[in-house]
Amino acid sequence: MISKEKLNILISEEDMKKRIGEVAAQINRDYAGKNLLVVGILKGAILFYADLVRLLDMDVQFDFMTISSYGNATDSTGEVKIRKDLDTSIVGRDVLIVEDIVDTGLTLKNLKEVLSTRKPASLKICTMLDKPSRRRVEIRPDYCCFEIPDRFVIGCGLDYAQWGRQFKDIWYVRPEFIDTL
Ligand code: 5GP
Repeated sequence: MISKEKLNILISEEDMKKRIGEVAAQINRDYAGKNLLVVGILKGAILFYADLVRLLDMDVQFDFMTISSYGNATDSTGEVKIRKDLDTSIVGRDVLIVEDIVDTGLTLKNLKEVLSTRKPASLKICTMLDKPSRRRVEIRPDYCCFEIPDRFVIGCGLDYAQWGRQFKDIWYVRPEFIDTL
């Protein structure tokens, strides 16, 4: 389990809600009149996904993937293993990937490469959080709610050992507790 005594709030529920509204408005403008396949990456993106899709105006279909990434300090390519694939064909579709956080970028870069081979009409990335200072490969999300510093964060779907996903705010681990979680 995780105790909130070891955490501080980085982004409040209120600020996140407001910013998701702004990002949804941007997506509504960009995809006006189109239909969109919104692909959520399980499990971390689920709450952000639910908040975002409710604000989208265009015709939307849902799909989900579960992936695990194998990237480490010495491996600059990384690799994604698809644990649950899409149910839907994406050939000729406008696809929006919804992710919780972009860190090194390895997961999304590889996922984007895999999905591109399936010939979508377009493929964009929307992330709740981005840690650009940690990037190891060139990838830029098309939509992002907040750029954050290099901190381990929990809440709004993000976990520590599967705990804390339901926290309404984004919390970070206080530095003095980082080794005691
Ligand atoms: P990347 O391949 O960009 O390095 O890793 C992205 C994945 O790492 C995210 O989908 C998330 O599961 C995990 N991750 C990266 N940073 C954090 C963080 O600060 N907190 C949590 N809970 N997960 C993180």
